[in-house]
Amino acid sequence: MKIEQQIASLRTELREHNHNYYVLDTPTISDYDFDMKLKELQQLEAAHPEFHDPSSPSLRVGGMVTKNFETVTHEQRMYSLDNSYSKEDLEDWEKRIQRVLGDVPIQFTCELKYDGASISLTYENGRLARAVTRGDGFQGDLVTTNIKTINSIPLQLKGNYPPKFDIRGEIVLPFAGFHKMNEERIANGEEPYMNPRNTASGSLKLQDSAAVAKRPLDCLLYGIVGENTGISTQWQMLEKARTWGFKVPSIAKLCQTVDEVLEFVDYWNVHRHDLPYETDGVVIKVNNLQHQDELGYTSKSPRWAMAYKFKAEQVSTVLNEITYQVGRTGAITPVANLEPVLLAGTTVKRASLHNADQIAKLDIRENDTVFVEKGGEIIPKIIKVDFDERPQNSVPTKYIENCPECHTPLTRTEGDAKHYCTNYYGCPPQITGRIQHYISRKAMDIEGMGSETIELLFKEGLVTNYADLYTLTKEEVMPLERMAEKSAENLVNGVAASVKIPFERVMFALGIRFVGETVAKKLAKAYKNIDAMMVATEEELVAVDEIGERIAKSVVEFFQNEDNRAIVSRLKSYGVQFELSAEKLENQTEKLKGQTFVVSGVFEKVSRNELKKMIEDNGGRVGSSVSSKTSFLVAGNNMGPSKRAKAENLNVAIISEDDFLAMV
Ligand code: AMP
Ligand code: ZN
Repeated sequence: MKIEQQIASLRTELREHNHNYYVLDTPTISDYDFDMKLKELQQLEAAHPEFHDPSSPSLRVGGMVTKNFETVTHEQRMYSLDNSYSKEDLEDWEKRIQRVLGDVPIQFTCELKYDGASISLTYENGRLARAVTRGDGFQGDLVTTNIKTINSIPLQLKGNYPPKFDIRGEIVLPFAGFHKMNEERIANGEEPYMNPRNTASGSLKLQDSAAVAKRPLDCLLYGIVGENTGISTQWQMLEKARTWGFKVPSIAKLCQTVDEVLEFVDYWNVHRHDLPYETDGVVIKVNNLQHQDELGYTSKSPRWAMAYKFKAEQVSTVLNEITYQVGRTGAITPVANLEPVLLAGTTVKRASLHNADQIAKLDIRENDTVFVEKGGEIIPKIIKVDFDERPQNSVPTKYIENCPECHTPLTRTEGDAKHYCTNYYGCPPQITGRIQHYISRKAMDIEGMGSETIELLFKEGLVTNYADLYTLTKEEVMPLERMAEKSAENLVNGVAASVKIPFERVMFALGIRFVGETVAKKLAKAYKNIDAMMVATEEELVAVDEIGERIAKSVVEFFQNEDNRAIVSRLKSYGVQFELSAEKLENQTEKLKGQTFVVSGVFEKVSRNELKKMIEDNGGRVGSSVSSKTSFLVAGNNMGPSKRAKAENLNVAIISEDDFLAMV
């Protein structure tokens, strides 16, 4: 046999064994025989680098080292899921769906909600082309090298798969492997890992892929996104993915009613403890993909899916002390410092108490015994006080009246639950908090600098606002704790590179209260440069789409302040972007100003996302569902009949893709 053929046939054979062992759980050869064949392949490949193949099963042992993971944009956003906790929540959801879809029968698929780290895998012509972490949903880290070491993820698909698609799933670390890892760590005198989920997600970002290969990670898949996949229901999606070689758990149910859904939930609420991996709920999805399409998305999650959270674990412990934290906007957050207690696999020491009202409502006092609960969120919650355990000498909690950091009297405006320290420029955590926000990933994304560095720089008197970052020199930074020549250089270079960050993000980075990412974009687009924005009045600002009074007031206040104006003008002198780029300006018009569009169906000339972008670039608004405020419904192929009916009812103009393109 020719060497090339020999290599090819070994690869096919090993692939098949991998699938049998890791996906189907039914090995057909011994581990020893498998290892022998793998060795044989590795030797042949080493001797014949001309037949290198990035999908070869031999590459699963890892070895590549990644220093920095590249950030890449998801072609399709990775959304969160809405949560529900009761039968009523689910019934309300069903009603909302039925209202949109009209009186049609709806089927639901139930799957378990695997608790690990989400991943998006892109396959091109049947080969794993890239693997990206969820990140912020829009962008994630490219971790392909590490992902390839996970044996249950096929590097080469079988059967009749679409030429290009993304498949999403969860990287989990099954209990057995997790415990084994911890036993080894303890034996080596190392600290054991806290829980499987964090260990799984930490594994994805290890620099040495050989270390990842040693971890018994698994990947459970649940959703395919892509055009022309030939799939019409969620149920079919799960089945197809299995035939292409993916590990899709067989625990899933196709339900005709919400009651059937609840049966599934009740069953797994109990039996999940018998599963080999962690789950934290059930995910319920509208089965028909066309229905899904009609339902669409909110800004965070699909309207066609719902997570039903298993009841969170609760424990009781003693609250030792209430302390207060000051955020970057001066907002005060009370924190419960607890007697450490084990909850859902992690040790809990602190819990947020939110605000003064919350403390009063629950009548929480120091030395109380409290019930702590941990849902999906990282920070645990205090549910209630165990009044039977309250000590005799207990005194009601008196909320602080002065800032714990700078002693300024706190203020609280009507309608706001939080207390604020208004010593904007003199209160240390506010100063550092603003700089930390400025350098954060979604803002100026300055590398080589973390929160601790900022605190050090502030303590040493090197920075008191974010404009000071730009005059830092390597020599000034090097003497700081944990800094070396290289890291100091990185820091200074990172700051210098930030002058390329576009105006929209600079607007967000300034940290104006109530100006989040989206509002920052709107403002940048409406005013085009900072000079125009700085002289805008409240009335003018409110006239901008989606800018309310609260935001307008905050923007005006920010720019009225002398110090802020001085900082902006310094930033300008360092080259920070304070106007929209020429390219952005060129593609922008006001042609669709004041018009709201709803986009539905599949389009031929441009993708749905492109279409939405065109609407926004031309000053229009994209609405999520047809209402009396909708100006146009842009109808593509396979648009749901209920949307059309609704538009007709409300006299909303229905236009085609071509009609729309002619408009812009
Ligand atoms: P959350 O992060 O709580 O909003 O939940 C959304 C996440 O649940 C997704 O990013 C997925 O990673 C995860 N997930 C786990 N199992 C499933 C499933 N069967 N279907 C959809 N998402 C799932
Ligand atoms: Zn203060």
